[in-house]
Amino acid sequence: MDGVGKSVALEQQTSSSQALALPAKPYLTRLAGWGQNQRADCDLREPELEGQVQASLDPQGTVPRGLGRSYGDAALNAGGRVLGMTRFNRYLAFDDATGTLTCEAGVSLEHILRDYVPRGWFPMVTPGTKFVTIGGCIANDIHGKAHHVQGSFSSCVDSFTVLLASGEVLTASRSENSDLFWASFGGMGLLGVILTATIRLKKIETSYFRQRSIRVKDLEGMLAAFTQYDHEFPYSVATLDVFATGARLGAGVLSLGEHARREELPGHLATDPLRVSGPPKLTVPFELPTLTLNRLSIRIVNALLQQIQARKPAYSHYEDFTYPLDMLAHWNRGYGPAGFAQYQFVIPFEDGPRRLREILTTILSSSELPFLNVLKCFGKQSEGVLSFPREGYTFAIDFPIRKRTAELLQRLDALVLNAGGRVYLGKDSFLDAATFRAMYPNLDQWLETKAKYDPRCVFASDLGRRVGLVR
Ligand SMILES: Cc1cc2nc3c(=O)[nH]c(=O)nc-3n(C[C@H](O)[C@H](O)[C@H](O)COP(=O)(O)OP(=O)(O)OC[C@H]3O[C@@H](n4cnc5c(N)ncnc54)[C@H](O)[C@@H]3O)c2cc1C
Repeated sequence: MDGVGKSVALEQQTSSSQALALPAKPYLTRLAGWGQNQRADCDLREPELEGQVQASLDPQGTVPRGLGRSYGDAALNAGGRVLGMTRFNRYLAFDDATGTLTCEAGVSLEHILRDYVPRGWFPMVTPGTKFVTIGGCIANDIHGKAHHVQGSFSSCVDSFTVLLASGEVLTASRSENSDLFWASFGGMGLLGVILTATIRLKKIETSYFRQRSIRVKDLEGMLAAFTQYDHEFPYSVATLDVFATGARLGAGVLSLGEHARREELPGHLATDPLRVSGPPKLTVPFELPTLTLNRLSIRIVNALLQQIQARKPAYSHYEDFTYPLDMLAHWNRGYGPAGFAQYQFVIPFEDGPRRLREILTTILSSSELPFLNVLKCFGKQSEGVLSFPREGYTFAIDFPIRKRTAELLQRLDALVLNAGGRVYLGKDSFLDAATFRAMYPNLDQWLETKAKYDPRCVFASDLGRRVGLVR
């Protein structure tokens, strides 16, 4: 094992600072989720050391926050304490033989890519943005384009340490405090503050993906294409044409990929096979006026996206393949001051095509402005008590917030529930407690674990109160 990057003698540093409390802050900070559809004034503290995390717990209610990439109110606590964990960002140990990394929970995938891709390692499981922390990835048990072969984030986590409401720090793994371990995946930061984690990275020969795009003309064709190619390519995701309805419903482009081997890279890429790219070059500098997004502008961008997806080169850098939206910083401002909602659900394969058609028809024929979207097949679910992914079809779509958006999402909740499916809390802003309970049958088991480790509900968030994860 070697220490890398900003690794420091953390134990030494921590013990000398146990008594360190962050200075009291007389003002509140306005925070939002990525969808910017809910904003809350919160007492934000940003601890750097374990002692500071401990000293910053507010018994009236505290929620940890990573990079704020959850779309709704998962990392908001209106009027109460929020612990911004991004300064908790040191690497602690790395084993170059196995790719096992121990780091603080505020380390982001962006940092890991920057520091470990040149050494031939890549995150085993990654969402569609690299601007997420390890703590956030655990709390949402995030999934990526290769869920059907790699599972969700829990599959690459060996253990983590959690600071509980009592101030005690416990290690949780498959064999130690396993109830806390599994309840933390999908636990939305409501059991304790994850301080450090040991995760496994994936060995890569290059930072490029060999990719293939397939244009498909309807839903049956799209689902058949997933079945045909999911065995051949570990990464797969489709973007649907949001203006294709009726017989063309489900038309779109299926993008497939796998990590390119060194020997197959074309000459111009082979000179720097483990290249890492820099920060985004483009940015949306301010919130665009609400009227910027209308049927015409969406029609133009939708057509452009379908063209771009269908004409991808044979080899793409991981930035283009895995994180296309990260190239435009603050792209969420494009939805205007009211923000947007992303609705992501999963429904079982059984009777899935019929149900999916029904839900897609409801979405695409609505008077809302559905826009960016992804369709994917999930593989087996993890043991995470409240993990979102389960075997079936998953679809995620963005809606700019308008007067009747919430109404549509409620109708969708009912359809998803009828299909035996559920909605992803990491993207959600509107789900109510009764529907959440019906969608997540393990809720009572999770609440028992919550009562065991946080009996006074010190960990609380706006989302937790809304969906019934905290009293
Ligand atoms: C462009 C984009 C693409 C995305 N694509 C995907 C995708 O493909 N798959 C997917 O699954 N998700 C996806 N997401 C959602 C994102 O991966 C998750 O919301 C993730 O949890 C965000 O991490 P974060 O560090 O920003 O955490 P935040 O959003 O700040 O917080 C998320 C949750 O984690 C908890 N938390 C954060 N840090 C800690 C900690 N140290 N200890 C305990 N709890 C903690 C918070 O309390 C909160 O409940 C995407 C988001 C965006 C913006």
